[in-house]
This record gives sequence, C-alpha cells and structure tokens, in this order.
Amino acid sequence: MSRDWTALQSCGVVVQENAVLSQWTTFQLGGSCSSLFLCSTPLQLEQTVACLVEKEIPFILIGGGSNLVVSDYGIDCAVIRYVSDIPLISHQKNEITVSGSTQLDQLALYAAQQGLEGLTFISGIPGTVGGAIVGNAGAFGKQVGDVLKSVTLLSADGKQSIALAEDLNFTYRNSRLKETGDIIVEAVFKVCPGQKNELINQRDEILKIRWQKHPDLKVYPCAGSFFRNIEPTSQAQRRQATGWFLEQAGGKNLAVGGAVIFPQHANIIVKTQGCTAQNVYDLAQQMAALVKKNYNLDIVREVRFVGKFDGVADSEKTVIW
Ligand SMILES: Cc1cc2nc3c(=O)[nH]c(=O)nc-3n(C[C@H](O)[C@H](O)[C@H](O)COP(=O)(O)OP(=O)(O)OC[C@H]3O[C@@H](n4cnc5c(N)ncnc54)[C@H](O)[C@@H]3O)c2cc1C
Repeated sequence: MSRDWTALQSCGVVVQENAVLSQWTTFQLGGSCSSLFLCSTPLQLEQTVACLVEKEIPFILIGGGSNLVVSDYGIDCAVIRYVSDIPLISHQKNEITVSGSTQLDQLALYAAQQGLEGLTFISGIPGTVGGAIVGNAGAFGKQVGDVLKSVTLLSADGKQSIALAEDLNFTYRNSRLKETGDIIVEAVFKVCPGQKNELINQRDEILKIRWQKHPDLKVYPCAGSFFRNIEPTSQAQRRQATGWFLEQAGGKNLAVGGAVIFPQHANIIVKTQGCTAQNVYDLAQQMAALVKKNYNLDIVREVRFVGKFDGVADSEKTVIW
C-alpha cells in the first residue's frame, strides 16, 4: 500500500518505496524493504521516527551498512538510513559534538585539522559515528567507547534521553545499545589539545596501513573482519587474532558459491561474482566450525545479519541479529 510521506519529504527526507538494500551496504548484498527513509540530520531522523511510530509501522535503522549482511529475501519492515555526506560537527574546548549520521572518518579528519587529540585511531574505519558507538568500533588497541562522553538517544517509540558513556556497558565490540535498539542521534567525545601537523601525519600513517591491510571495497565488497578476536581466558593473556586460528586451520581455502575468503586475511569474507547473502552465512558457519574442530574455540560474530536466512529458526533472532 503506498502512503503519503509529503510531510517528511518537505523536511528533506528522501523516501524510496521497495528499495533494494544491496545498494546501501558495503557487502552490496540483500533484497528489498517496503520503504526506505534517507535521513541525514537529527531533525529528519526525529521526524521520521515520530511519523513511523504514529503510523505504527515497524522499522530498523542502519548507518553506513559496513557491518551488515542483509538477507536475500529482503526484510519485512521499513528501514531508516541515518547517514550524512556533510559532517555535522562542532567543538568547544575539549569536547566534540557530532551527529550519529556523520561518517566516522570525517570525525577523525575534523579532530586532526582542529588540533584535537584522541580520535586519530578511528581514521579510515568505514561507517557512521552511530554505528561505531553501538559496536564499540576500534583499531590499534583503542575503542570508541574509551573516548565517548555521552550520547543523545531516541528510543524505538520516539522518546529522547541522554546517557553517559559509563551507562552504555561498553565491552570489546559491544555495548548495551545492541540489545536496547536505541538510536544514537548525537554524541559528545572527550579530546585534548594536540599538535595539528603531528595529528595529520599520524592520520596519514594510519590510512596507509589500512590501505595495505584492508580490502578495497570497490574490488572486494565485504563488511570487514567477520568474527571478533578471541577474548583472553586469563588476565595474563592478550586478545588473540581469530584470523590466525582460521589461517592455521586452512580457512583461506573455504568458499561457498561466490563468498570467498580475502586472500590477505583469513577473517574477512568477500563477495565475488554470483555471491548471495546466504553464501556468506553458510561460509561463516563453516569458518566457526573449523575453529571449533581444530582449537575447541567458539568464535563470536562481529558482523550482524539482517532478516531471514535458511537454516536459522525464526525464534532465534530479531530483524538485526
Ligand atoms: C573494509 C572495512 C574495514 C573495517 N575496519 C574496521 C575496524 O578497523 N574496526 C572496527 O571496529 N570495525 C571495522 N569495520 C566494521 C564497520 O566499519 C564498523 O563496525 C562500523 O562502526 C559500522 O558502522 P555503520 O554505520 O556502517 O553501521 P551499520 O553497519 O549500518 O550498522 C551496524 C549496527 O549499528 C546499528 N546502528 C547504525 N547506526 C546507528 C545509530 N545512529 N544509532 C543506533 N544504532 C545504529 C545498526 O542498527 C546495526 O545494528 C570495517 C568494515 C569494513 C567494510
């Protein structure tokens, strides 16, 4: 049934009916959803959520789609995409305020250009500020939760609140927001004064390292590391690279249909010709089984699935799982 979205469109929200979601994820996989709402500002987001709540239309929210595998069957609800091409950032003294829709790398660039230290490590990580906070994204031993001060949240029923970082239960690649489903409208980060030129050089170094290590998304669509690294079992141990275990066990030779392992990194699944989302799911199952068989370790997924997949009982999951 087609609906009237004129009020949202007049405040700049772009609405697409029967939108194909593969266009909006870095894996470039997935079927369609009934309606897609492209929001770039906090106001557009708040108005869209209020409208969907009022019309009792179920929805999910995505950011840059860089940590998702969307089902080939598509999904049975509306989707809000909260991404802004123009960074929405300001700072006062040692605090940066930024919209959840701003791209994470734009935040890193802004901080470096303003001579503000503390955020260089996020340089080059794809996706948005909101997605990074939910999954406590990180690199080079640092995580977003370590430098966050507070967030403005919007609940699925449209209520706004402010939460301090310490209330978000950050752990490695996780936060309580994955369970609550609250939306990050805006965030405040703690920074300290630094040397602009040094920060820009550090950022350039990080980008160089990332270009060498990570797949070029134009050639190898993917969602980055598929599984989290392995948590230490005692304080004396360090976190261990899941890619190492996969490589030792011969995981680089695994493939299902067009889903194959990135030649330079055994923990990254990439899409090649003919790849379906189901291929990615099945390959991930094989990778987990291989590590279990060879090392008796249960590896935990970092990438999130969206919608229905063959072989997974409906009762086991919500839309994003
Ligand atoms: C090439 C490549 C390299 C990568 N390197 C790294 C890396 O070094 N470190 C790392 O940690 N990750 C890495 N990733 C994974 C990914 O970039 C991060 O997880 C990123 O933070 C996801 O952000 P997103 O906006 O794309 O979220 P999405 O993939 O769109 O969504 C992920 C989850 O966040 C939720 N979400 C998104 N926005 C919001 C919001 N505003 N409010 C509430 N919930 C929201 C979604 O509902 C979903 O549950 C990499 C991915 C790729 C493709």
